[in-house]
Amino acid sequence: MTKRKPFEEVYPIKDTYKRFDSRNTSFAQSRRRRQSEGLGYADDAGKVERMNKGIPGFSIVDYAFKDAAETYTGRGMNTGYYSWTSLGVATKPEGVPRWEVSPEEASKVVKKAAKFYGATSVGFTETDKRWFYSNLGDGRPIVFEDVEEGYMDDEKAVIPNSHKWVVAIAVPMEFIENSYAPTPIEVTSNVGYSRMHVTAGSLAEFIRGLGWHAIPCGNDTALSVPIAIQAGLGHIGRMGRLITWERGPLVRICKVFTDMPLAPSPQAPGGIIEYCEVCKKCAHNCPSGSIPEGPRTWEGPKESNAPGVYKWYCDEDSCLDYWHKVGTGCSICFRCCSFTKKQGLSHDMIKWFIRNVPALNKFWAYTDDLFGYGKMSDPRKYWDIPYEPS
Ligand code: SF4
Ligand code: SF4
Repeated sequence: MTKRKPFEEVYPIKDTYKRFDSRNTSFAQSRRRRQSEGLGYADDAGKVERMNKGIPGFSIVDYAFKDAAETYTGRGMNTGYYSWTSLGVATKPEGVPRWEVSPEEASKVVKKAAKFYGATSVGFTETDKRWFYSNLGDGRPIVFEDVEEGYMDDEKAVIPNSHKWVVAIAVPMEFIENSYAPTPIEVTSNVGYSRMHVTAGSLAEFIRGLGWHAIPCGNDTALSVPIAIQAGLGHIGRMGRLITWERGPLVRICKVFTDMPLAPSPQAPGGIIEYCEVCKKCAHNCPSGSIPEGPRTWEGPKESNAPGVYKWYCDEDSCLDYWHKVGTGCSICFRCCSFTKKQGLSHDMIKWFIRNVPALNKFWAYTDDLFGYGKMSDPRKYWDIPYEPS
């Protein structure tokens, strides 16, 4: 039986840890830095230049494919599918009491519904206020109050103290399209963002239809990775992202805070961090040198890294600079990761060894390269190959 360590052991946090200010994320900083220049990493001027040069994977078709995949991403927190209040779609009739069952029964039902709405994995944990951003992008603080329903006004964003549980949801990204990174054919991140809205928003509405309250969110409102780890979806990898046993880093995370009692999920089986200690494949392949090759540390290189957690810190600023250089989201580290493997007998067997016989990790890391896993697919051929779900 694989040992499951407690959260504090796999994600050690200093007592002095302070809630992270969303104005310090690399995206927020980059937006401020580049506002005067009017440049986005996939801005029109850059697109035109790449299209006219005929760079494979950067044609008008490829860019339109990527951009359209993100058609449903709403306008940010507490809007659209991420609304903190009822959308009026699933409503509990007045004449019946709200659905009250044991946390275990509620978790079972919520998990199945979330999977139907698009999740690949689902976990539950108690709400940990440390992971909420301290402030929104415009400076308003996120605070906690004894109210029934979350709300935002001109002064603040209010999370109800009653929302003591959170559903962590991983939505899938495709293996095949990810193998075309770094080109716009790596469309999986964008379609993932659309899926996050639909899945978290539908689940929140389902919970409201049962008579409870729910706050769905994507990357906004609170840090997703620690919540996902606490809810047992996976572990922090060297690249600084969540690594799952099922799909490696090929997931996007969304979450739903609620006052409906849920039973916490067990931690994911250990072994991922130990494997990352010897693998380093993402660090070796990162074109901007953003992923550390050394041991885990208590703080990262930039202001965009929330300090106080013992982990590998990816330099999010130099990573984003590379996106600007290449003209699209990069994702090379996702493509190269040793855990980016479809499920199947041989891969599942190796994962069993990684969980149970860590002494072989170096051998598996060596053979992963030897077998050529993680290589880039040829973008000139993408549109000639019939679609295959992955
Ligand atoms: S997305 Fe690209 S640049 Fe950023 S850390 Fe991964 S490999 Fe490096
Ligand atoms: S490439 Fe290797 S070191 Fe990097 S996250 Fe994946 S398993 Fe860990």
